[in-house]
Amino acid sequence: MMDDPLGPFFILAEQDPLPHNEASMIERDEEAAGIVADPGATAPEREFEVGLRPQRLDEFVGQSGIKENLGVLLDAAKGRGEPVEHVLLYGNPGLGKTTLAHVIGNERGAQVRVTSGPALERVGDLAAILSNLGKGDVLFIDEIHRLNKTIEEVLYPAMEDYALDLVVGKGPTARTLRLGLEKFTIIGATTRLSLLSSPLRDRFGATFHLNFYEPGDIERIVARSAKLLNVETDAEAVSLLAARSRQTPRVANRLLKRVRDFAQVKAEGRISVPVAEAALTMLDVDQHGLDRVDRHVLMTLIEKFRGGPVGLSTLAAATQEEMETLEEIHEPYLIQLGLMERTPRGRMATEGAYRHLGRPVPEQRLV
Ligand code: ADP
Repeated sequence: MMDDPLGPFFILAEQDPLPHNEASMIERDEEAAGIVADPGATAPEREFEVGLRPQRLDEFVGQSGIKENLGVLLDAAKGRGEPVEHVLLYGNPGLGKTTLAHVIGNERGAQVRVTSGPALERVGDLAAILSNLGKGDVLFIDEIHRLNKTIEEVLYPAMEDYALDLVVGKGPTARTLRLGLEKFTIIGATTRLSLLSSPLRDRFGATFHLNFYEPGDIERIVARSAKLLNVETDAEAVSLLAARSRQTPRVANRLLKRVRDFAQVKAEGRISVPVAEAALTMLDVDQHGLDRVDRHVLMTLIEKFRGGPVGLSTLAAATQEEMETLEEIHEPYLIQLGLMERTPRGRMATEGAYRHLGRPVPEQRLV
């Protein structure tokens, strides 16, 4: 999707390897540092996010290919007077999967029920939710790759034939009872498509991959959120915030919120470039949006493992991070920026990583 994500990065990195470290005249916000990339939204943050969530397809910024395809899917369903096909959304946390599920529901004037793979523990839970869905309603299942096998098997006939096959009784007298359901839409979201079984994958009519956002789209998202929050911003400050948002809407909104608070306390509420820079320095976010954990991962690769290759579990142990967090949050962005490589023998720091951290590039890395 990106034209050339590496180009601008290398130019900047060579000119200015680690400005945020030297520039830091401000006391760092230790609690916030390193959690900028955090995938999960805390409860107050979720509330904050809901207010910023686009409601309709034309408010949803970027991802034009997906929007176009979804538009066709919605129109086709409307034309036939049927519910939208089951849709599978996959992509990194914070890219808009939940938002899109609500947009689909809103576009069809349908009710959206939200659940998640790990929350559906018993067949009864799923049966209760499904039998309460009305015609055309949307059931959003987040982290669908974490559904257990039994639940998954109940889902197959529900998705295919809008029916629930329930086993009544035990032993030789047990029999299967088929319950009809209204025609509904399941929207599954996952960060790990490869963990989804193929029978489940095959039951979705459409699968969309959400990618990192283009820089211009992230700018539009920051500007839109600032407007909704009634925060005054300079255009250059919007660009600055966007550039450090890991090409991810959730991070963009999170940074905007933190910078807004900072501006309120220190600059009468207006977000200018110096205010944004000072706040981001305090949050320990560098000029490419890397947080403390990202830099720690790269530094560990370089210092402890001579740049790699090193296996994920070893890297996780050495950095004291969870493997899942490294794999889902930090790696994708480091790879996107061309700072890390995933090879069959393990993770490696690239030449760009050495430059970014102001380290001399070993000869064997210079190709
Ligand atoms: P996911 O479900 O993929 O983790 P969400 O849908 O919860 O991500 O998105 C996180 C936040 O980012 C939402 O609150 C929403 O405000 C914002 N957001 C996501 N995608 C967009 C978009 N395309 N345009 C504007 N805001 C967006």
